[in-house]
Amino acid sequence: MTLADAFPEIARRDQPLAPFTHLRIGGPAEFLVQPRTADELRRVLRFCAEHAVPLRMLGGGYNLLVRDEPVPGAVVRLSGPAFETISVDGRTVRAAGGAALFDLIAASVRAGLSGLETLVGIRGSVGGSVRCNVGDRAGEIGASVRRVAVLGLDGTEQVRTRDELTFGDHTSDLDEPVILWVEFELERDAAPAVLKRMRRTWVLRKGAEPLSFQASVRMFRNPAGATAAALIERAGLAKTKAGNAEVSDRNGNYAIAHPGTTAADVLALLDAVQARVKATSGVTLQRELNVW
Ligand SMILES: Cc1cc2nc3c(=O)[nH]c(=O)nc-3n(C[C@H](O)[C@H](O)[C@H](O)COP(=O)(O)OP(=O)(O)OC[C@H]3O[C@@H](n4cnc5c(N)ncnc54)[C@H](O)[C@@H]3O)c2cc1C
Repeated sequence: MTLADAFPEIARRDQPLAPFTHLRIGGPAEFLVQPRTADELRRVLRFCAEHAVPLRMLGGGYNLLVRDEPVPGAVVRLSGPAFETISVDGRTVRAAGGAALFDLIAASVRAGLSGLETLVGIRGSVGGSVRCNVGDRAGEIGASVRRVAVLGLDGTEQVRTRDELTFGDHTSDLDEPVILWVEFELERDAAPAVLKRMRRTWVLRKGAEPLSFQASVRMFRNPAGATAAALIERAGLAKTKAGNAEVSDRNGNYAIAHPGTTAADVLALLDAVQARVKATSGVTLQRELNVW
């Protein structure tokens, strides 16, 4: 029995993943599964565990490169009301894993709560953003996380508290298959001050990114004491091309996928950049981009 037999209403075979990624490239998923409730999601997890089906979670696809070949097993996407709720209670904001990061920030700022406003302009789901500990020098999302509910491979729910979690530079130790919801503890602040910080961050972030119509992804983590962008630009790599993929000239740490780009082009670009930076500065850049 396949996933499509067991879950005919929510599992689709051979579904293209490109439309679900920011780069708009990549091969199909053997099964794309979009559960409607947490209980359905648990049953999907249990099915995958019992039938040894590999399982991957898809968020907004902003930190993801899907290879050109088919992705075996199940790709699970949390969409729909059950996975997108956001609630505010005093200084605590709880967001489901499939909620948009932007909606979480907007709800917090509206409630006069500070802590997430410097993440404005970063796109993604709450689950993907917490797993990748998004942010920059102005602040990371992990700093505001109080509790995270995760599902294990067998669908069992566990709530991990702040002291059981470790966040690093664009990393976390949240390696369970599913982030179901995240609770944030924020600080009260005057709404005008929060809004001002949010607007300033937005302008700075958008000025340091590829243009909004360009399909782009961040390539590497910042090594200790430097930024990946500076090392890449110092190595003279701005506008370097591999096939139709190109290093951005607005920020060297972004790869742009021009029309016709394949995942192989992006991977070749990552390899070329890594090798050149190693040769010029001795630093081995570590990939930030998730590759399936
Ligand atoms: C133009 C641009 C600018 C960006 N600027 C920044 C920036 O300034 N700072 C920064 O830190 N990042 C930045 N990013 C990276 C990106 O926005 C974040 O990493 C994003 O929040 C990832 O979330 P996502 O939902 O898109 O995850 P995806 O890309 O879909 O997935 C990322 C990882 O998270 C996992 N995942 C997703 N959802 C779940 C879940 N519910 N449970 C468990 N695992 C899950 C996936 O399996 C995958 O391993 C930028 C990206 C782009 C394209």
